[in-house]
Amino acid sequence: MSDHLEYDFVIIGSGFGGSVSALRLTEKGYKVLVIEKGKWYQGKDFPKNNWHLKKWLWMPSMKFYGILKMTFFRYTTILSGVGVGGGSLVYANTLPVPKSEFFNSGNWKGLADWEKELKPFYKEAKRMLGAEKNPKFFDSDLALKMAAESMGKVQDFESPEVSVFFGKANTVVSDPFFKGEGPDREGCTFCGQCMTGCPNNAKNSLDKNYLYLAQQKGAEILAEKKVNVVEPLGKKDGSTGYQITFEDQTSYFRKNTKKITSKGVVFSGGVLGTVRLLLDMKVKKYMPDLSSQVGNYVRTNNENLSLITTRNKDLDLSKGVAIGSIFPPDEHGHVEAVRYGAGSNFWKIPVIPMVFGKNVFVRILKLLKFLLIHPWKWIGNYFIKDYAQRTVILLFMQHLDSTIKLKRGRFNLSTRLTDGKKPTPFIPMAKTLADQVAKEIGGTPFMMSTDILTGAPSTAHILGGAVIGKDKESGVINTEHKVYGYKNLYVCDGSAMSANPGVNPSLTITAMTERAMSKIPQK
Ligand SMILES: Cc1cc2nc3c(=O)[nH]c(=O)nc-3n(C[C@H](O)[C@H](O)[C@H](O)COP(=O)(O)OP(=O)(O)OC[C@H]3O[C@@H](n4cnc5c(N)ncnc54)[C@H](O)[C@@H]3O)c2cc1C
Ligand code: SF4
Repeated sequence: MSDHLEYDFVIIGSGFGGSVSALRLTEKGYKVLVIEKGKWYQGKDFPKNNWHLKKWLWMPSMKFYGILKMTFFRYTTILSGVGVGGGSLVYANTLPVPKSEFFNSGNWKGLADWEKELKPFYKEAKRMLGAEKNPKFFDSDLALKMAAESMGKVQDFESPEVSVFFGKANTVVSDPFFKGEGPDREGCTFCGQCMTGCPNNAKNSLDKNYLYLAQQKGAEILAEKKVNVVEPLGKKDGSTGYQITFEDQTSYFRKNTKKITSKGVVFSGGVLGTVRLLLDMKVKKYMPDLSSQVGNYVRTNNENLSLITTRNKDLDLSKGVAIGSIFPPDEHGHVEAVRYGAGSNFWKIPVIPMVFGKNVFVRILKLLKFLLIHPWKWIGNYFIKDYAQRTVILLFMQHLDSTIKLKRGRFNLSTRLTDGKKPTPFIPMAKTLADQVAKEIGGTPFMMSTDILTGAPSTAHILGGAVIGKDKESGVINTEHKVYGYKNLYVCDGSAMSANPGVNPSLTITAMTERAMSKIPQK
């Protein structure tokens, strides 16, 4: 690496792709800097529940510097994580391996034997993230189990592998995962608060494994700084390095813009961060030779989120790890019982009764009918005090393909439809599941109002936009995650995922990044 440059690699974003890259590049002897726009939270900093909007939501324009970002587009609503540890701070810990269809579909189909190639990296990813079967079912899981039984699928109902330390609750032990090289930990209390940030030091978020170890081995981490520009220094293909410009994200008055130089750059800002930056760099001509596929083939994992609320006070649906049980209700789908901890009652505000219909007028008519027949089931929902205890969320996903694209508008990103199938929240199997669980617990299914009124699905698993292709005409990166048209430039995060996994994607992002990093030689 050139001596006059300050770093060998700058990594933009500290989520799954960024954290794996940070550790593996540092271990290979490179000088690494991770730049993260969000805050560096510790257990005690997390909000007690999701009414503490300033600590839960990421909305810098309102001075809210929390861990969950909600982005509303015409064709999807995206939930994503922000902070040192990225989506691992807010995620529900679940680490499934996708079915074979994922490895043989989408943009990367046929470019490698992905299932075989990634197998050892899944194993390593599980070890590093501390994947372990959830040992205890609670009421939400039992509700899903009853639904599985009624649907003749109980033999497939199971406990998922989750990235949680199931040691003794409220008891500090020295690092149980990395032969003492990692931080002290405490066992899970099954409080259900994983998605507002684990206050008990039990969740294996990235700051407890990959990032922690990377920092111990010499990687630098800069929090609360947002990268705005990456441009080649000297030669226009980046072979003589890059200049990276970033500014303060959380200071009240000064932006404090700074520039640094690096031989290589890894884009790991998640879909919203990476695709935004790449589109900006192409449009503003800092990197005009990027593939014209930047922003194309964005996938929502074909999801439906439904929230089933009961008035039955004998149940406590908030207990347990955030996702405690799963089963595949049909050949394409995967469903999970999800929960928030007691007190996290925010979601009763943006939801309305679940209705399907081919256009918004039909759906509004169905809502009016619901209001006439069951006014209190709807209105009363806003007045339930212990909403989290009374609500189980069903997360249904499919590996079937559907795509949209992200475009650079005048001020911000926007979504567009493509020739492919468009994603929809109105998935018949998701409704069957929600109705069945509602029957089991005497509840009513609700959905996000945005889903029902706009027909655009909400997703916690936005993927693609910088996909793998056999050449620059068909993809943004090659099979080793190298960006076409530039040297020492990589994309390692959800935007590199080139098909719908139909299950939660973080384990796959981790495994794909492990593989990409294994191709980079020792310094
Ligand atoms: C509520 C919720 C629950 C979830 N549960 C699960 C689950 O159980 N299992 C699972 O597998 N997945 C889950 N996910 C999804 C998972 O969080 C994401 O798929 C995953 O985090 C994506 O990883 P990534 O590497 O693409 O980037 P991310 O983890 O999204 O990290 C990107 C980071 O880059 C930072 N960044 C972006 N742009 C810039 C910039 N310009 N400069 C500096 N920093 C920048 C962001 O702040 C962020 O911290 C969940 C997501 C949500 C929102
Ligand atoms: S259930 Fe509670 S203690 Fe266990 S990982 Fe989640 S937040 Fe932490």
